[in-house]
Amino acid sequence: MTLLHNSGFPRIGHKRELKFALERYWRGEDSLEKLESTAADLRARHWQLQQDAGLDLIPVNDFSLYDQILDHSLLLSAVPSRFGDLSRLTHADAAFCIARGKNAQGQPVAAGEMTKWFDTNYHFIVPELRRGQQFLIGSNKLFEEVAEARALGHTNIKPVLPGPLTWLWLSKTGEAEFDRLELLDSLVEAYGEILLRLAGLGVEWVQLDEPALALDLPAAWKQAYESAYSRLQGTPVKLLLATYFGPLKDNLHLAARLPVDGLHLDAVRAPGELLNLADHLPAYKVLSAGIIDGRNIWRSDLAQALTVLDPLKQRLGKRLWLAPSCSLLHVPVDLLSEAELDKELKDWMAFAVQKLDELALLKQGLHATGEQRSLLLADNTRAAQTRRQSTRIHNPGVQERLQSLTADMAQRHSDYRKRRPQQISLPLFPTTTIGSFPQTAEIRQARRKFRQGQMDAAGYREKMREEIRKVVKIQERLGLDVLVHGEAERNDMVEYFGEQLEGFAFTRFGWVQSYGSRCVKPPILFGDVSRPAPMTVEWSSYAQSLTERPMKGMLTGPVTILNWSFVRNDQPRASTCRQLALALRDEVRDLERAGIRVIQIDEAALREGLPLRRSDWQEYLDWAVESFRISAAAVQDSTQIHTHMCYSEFNDIMPFIAAMDADVITIETSRSHMELLDAFRDFDYPAEIGPGVYDIHSANIPRQEDILALLKKALERIPAEHLWINPDCGLKTRTWEEVQPALENMLAAARQLRQQH
Ligand code: GLN
Ligand code: ZN
Repeated sequence: MTLLHNSGFPRIGHKRELKFALERYWRGEDSLEKLESTAADLRARHWQLQQDAGLDLIPVNDFSLYDQILDHSLLLSAVPSRFGDLSRLTHADAAFCIARGKNAQGQPVAAGEMTKWFDTNYHFIVPELRRGQQFLIGSNKLFEEVAEARALGHTNIKPVLPGPLTWLWLSKTGEAEFDRLELLDSLVEAYGEILLRLAGLGVEWVQLDEPALALDLPAAWKQAYESAYSRLQGTPVKLLLATYFGPLKDNLHLAARLPVDGLHLDAVRAPGELLNLADHLPAYKVLSAGIIDGRNIWRSDLAQALTVLDPLKQRLGKRLWLAPSCSLLHVPVDLLSEAELDKELKDWMAFAVQKLDELALLKQGLHATGEQRSLLLADNTRAAQTRRQSTRIHNPGVQERLQSLTADMAQRHSDYRKRRPQQISLPLFPTTTIGSFPQTAEIRQARRKFRQGQMDAAGYREKMREEIRKVVKIQERLGLDVLVHGEAERNDMVEYFGEQLEGFAFTRFGWVQSYGSRCVKPPILFGDVSRPAPMTVEWSSYAQSLTERPMKGMLTGPVTILNWSFVRNDQPRASTCRQLALALRDEVRDLERAGIRVIQIDEAALREGLPLRRSDWQEYLDWAVESFRISAAAVQDSTQIHTHMCYSEFNDIMPFIAAMDADVITIETSRSHMELLDAFRDFDYPAEIGPGVYDIHSANIPRQEDILALLKKALERIPAEHLWINPDCGLKTRTWEEVQPALENMLAAARQLRQQH
């Protein structure tokens, strides 16, 4: 029979138990024993659940209190020296020191850097390596969890570890640069010992995750794969090499050739490679087809999956395994928790628990034929059918509009140089903020009361208006040139728009881990997107009515809404993005009609959507930029369009940034000491730029002279008449005690700079 396995289960818990336990421990309210016991309960529950679902191999070591890459660094004793000797701490406390920036003595030091895990919204702690470093087993967490699973009666376990090359690829060197491949020998040796110890615990299969094989790899790294894995060849456990998040492309033959016992492929992202791999795989190897989507919340179309699997099974027989495409870490835990979710929509979805059931059903289906198979799949087929035909999803009006999109709809009337003189006149070095002001406890409480029905709509509206009056007054007093309304009414910059657009649904417990205890709850974009009514016009025009100064309308852009939602898989992402763009286009036009002369369309997540492979960038950027332009281009030349991007490299995508054709772009730069502006200078960027002059992620109040120094650096790179002055990003996570003096200093620096010009 076909073997079923899984690469990882969400560890946060269906009610985010782990999050709350972690935070209680960090606040000193609970003991470590209490936290560990919550963690053990979660592991036990999740193992049992996977066992009950009929999995033949269940993952161990996919659990983590903070991050599995950080766990692995501890397993290898790869701890940066600034943390001191963490070896006397428990694994948990050592991990928290690195993740949260404390050394062994409990003093603050720079935390381990965090970065996005491939193209997901999960963030891992980047391993930091130094020249000549030796790797030794430095943690028992892995082995203890194996023993723990066994003690609970699970004999069919498969420890999951980051593979040596992926872990090394994701690491960074300290100040002294060197070729990280120099460390490979010692690293492979440590893996040898780890695998030996696992064998000693009776483990038969170990999964080594090598998603780096889905990336463009330099030749030396490809070679390193060969040498590392051939050195691991004699190991007494069987190795399953897991790739995911994309096709293997030029790494396919390399992956097929590596001397391991099995290869896992993401069959959702690389369906075309399954047969090819089956052909190239030596006869002793297992092929694991990651056929259930671990990155999205839709139910699989099992009949469709079987058309892929049938020929594979013919060829491979028992050597075909089935699994989700990747770890289920990236989807919410259990759809059954969603008591309030619309029944019909729910019928089309599957969270982690449901995905395991799909896997089991798929196996049954694979071993059945004819009538018996149809019977098994009947419910799944019915759901797929209703989804394909539902009028909830398909809106002919939206489709028609998409069809009638023309190139000039993405084109403003004139170019920036002709537009600028028609727009609002401003002093040299105009000052503004990025949109949000502190989300105070008072604001959050009002929203909670409104949601729970303890406050009526009129009361809530008045509360928000009061907040707008307050922030307008403060901004006038500070002397800012372009004001914002403060975004008090927004819980979240994507959810706020999703809630007002047709085609979106929201869950109660659909949390996905972002980093540490932090989770996000992405909206679900299930159908054609349309805008039944204006979404922001009332707030913005009220705010504008309070002041003579220009009020900036504030929208989240189409690409960012797309990249921060679970989106439909029944049409290309590009089409979904264009639908969002059209809805926002209407909002932009309505804002303009209401007398708003400056409109900011945030594209914080534009870069996040970049495909893993360079060769796919152009296609993505083409439609992403086009979508932005569709939303922005409906306005008159006299309306000034801003966009904003959070921390982002611009070098390699500069032509696309320029092609967005915004009149003003504000970017997060303060931490790069304005070096990010080199790209704008080198490109001869034609329009205005607001490089953030202070880091809003820090509670420190920026000093006037530091801001001035940064502005001078900026002026070395961009012309004075193009320079705006603003913070790095929105201020919603800060307090007023921090925001007021920070902005005072920013404005003082602006005045000083103007005097000098
Ligand atoms: N306008 C948003 C704000 O100010 C932008 C947030 C972001 O870039 N992440 O909060
Ligand atoms: Zn930002």
